[in-house]
Amino acid sequence: MNILNYIKGLIRNSKAVIAKMAAMCAYPMIENKILFIFLYLLGIINMLIEVYVLHYRIPKISFFTYVLDAYLICLMISFVPKRLKNVFQILTYSISVMLAVINIFCVNKFHAKIGPEILNVVLETNKRESSEFADKYINAELITSPLSILLVYLILFGMLALYAHSHFKLSKNRLISYILSSLFVVCVVVALPSRITMIKLLKAENIEELDHYINNHSLNTPYNNLAFAIKVRVLSNKDLDVLAKNQNKFTVDSCNHSSNNIIFIIGESYIKCHSQLYGYKYETTPYQKKRMNDGEIVVFTDVITPANLTSVVFKHTFSLHSIDMKDSWSSYPLFPVLYRKANYHVAFITNQFVKSIQQDAFNVTGGLFLNENRLSAMQFDTRNIISHQYDEELLRDYDSLQQYNTANNLIIFHLSGQHIDFYKRSPEAFKKFAVSDYSVRKDLSDQEKQIVADYDNATLYNDFVLEKIIERFENEDAIVIYMPDHGEECYDELHRMGRLPSGNFSPEVLRQEYRIPFWIWMSKKYRENHHTICKQVENAKNKPFMTDDISHMFLYLAGIKCKYYNDSKNVLSDSFDVNRKRLVEGIADFDKISEHKQ
Ligand SMILES: [Zn+2]
Repeated sequence: MNILNYIKGLIRNSKAVIAKMAAMCAYPMIENKILFIFLYLLGIINMLIEVYVLHYRIPKISFFTYVLDAYLICLMISFVPKRLKNVFQILTYSISVMLAVINIFCVNKFHAKIGPEILNVVLETNKRESSEFADKYINAELITSPLSILLVYLILFGMLALYAHSHFKLSKNRLISYILSSLFVVCVVVALPSRITMIKLLKAENIEELDHYINNHSLNTPYNNLAFAIKVRVLSNKDLDVLAKNQNKFTVDSCNHSSNNIIFIIGESYIKCHSQLYGYKYETTPYQKKRMNDGEIVVFTDVITPANLTSVVFKHTFSLHSIDMKDSWSSYPLFPVLYRKANYHVAFITNQFVKSIQQDAFNVTGGLFLNENRLSAMQFDTRNIISHQYDEELLRDYDSLQQYNTANNLIIFHLSGQHIDFYKRSPEAFKKFAVSDYSVRKDLSDQEKQIVADYDNATLYNDFVLEKIIERFENEDAIVIYMPDHGEECYDELHRMGRLPSGNFSPEVLRQEYRIPFWIWMSKKYRENHHTICKQVENAKNKPFMTDDISHMFLYLAGIKCKYYNDSKNVLSDSFDVNRKRLVEGIADFDKISEHKQ
């Protein structure tokens, strides 16, 4: 009997404990019920407007994360002393509405959410510019913009809240506590991983780590975006300030301008095995293939990239720093800076890192050292000002900037290439490949075959763009170097597409994402005038090379002498270190790992 009573007592007690916990859990929501509902609906409306304007799929997880966000804010307010509670509630209403207004305005006008670029513009805009901005954008048109949806929401919610306040009372009964606390638990389970990611982001110590968090729409709430923007600004300011100050100190001893026109084309997401130059059976690169057969293009066979993320590749491509060096890249010269100091005219014609607030999210961290005012001025004499849907249009930019060319030029083209989404990278006229071309691929669904077709069409279009660039320099004394930033996956070795966050170093991932095509084209005139370099290029084509050291080759091609140049890192030199351990991301031994299971 005693035991039975004991158990009954235990059940009673635990029921009481659970009820108490549920009441505690529900307390912040009940105590700040109107604010809680307001924040949740505001978040959802904001997200739906973004989805509508920016055309992305509704991140379903957001329906849970917004509950968690609203809950956490209400929880914080619950701890505020009673007399200050109203002040904090009003502050929360004002800040959240302000953020939503700014975010929706930016999404609608610039197709960009609150982010580092928007924050930079706001912080760097002077009084005159802000009044011009106000004249241009704040007008009657706003009434018909998505902002009016927000206005309707605010009015309706205000009216309903007032009505509910005087007519209903949410009593603290057990059932309500149970319902609300269960809702809370479900949301914690679903949304917590995404919020842990956010916390990691805010603890990041260097800018590269931030790249992994962008393009994640479920993470991109206005509060998170603002926090992200501030974080990027703080970290990059620190880094870029040191980098810029150091660039002033670097000097060039002499320069004999060995090559008059050096053209560096940086592509995007190029899978080596999708190029005919490396045996692909689909005709994706007819122009390059012809030039290779005619002996004009020297195709390198063993080149890899140090990273699979554009921004990291750019840093190491432009800097004389190598990825496996322990010290910071900010204390090394950027090769375009040295080119300018050696009296080369440097042009940067990019379809991604244009200096504007309309940058895509994937550019945000990558574009910083190219777009920071001081560093841009130190590296480039001329650059284009808008990005385009298709890469071919960059040639029009080049044509209009060509008048600024001098006797010695470094022209850097930076393409969108085969960047995801593949189908967006080629115009209609280049949609040659279709599902039916891949009937041998029994392992793929029709939808997947279409993705491969889209990728190959993008590669075919890329071939055309590269041809057009070469044509521009056909009659000049010119050398063209082509290198994509990194590879990609498109159902080749693994049944997947895209790229994995760095840190995944399986043999398949290394082969697909880090191995890249690479070639050098030299004009007829160039071949006649530069016998030694020609021979050196031919001799270099089978050397194992990682592109983080490409800057040394560029110094050599221009004949720039300076103490930062290292002959053993110049792939064209006889002293080039063919035994260098190629550590991708500075840690994984490419040659050791990638050999497995070929
Ligand atoms: Zn890239």
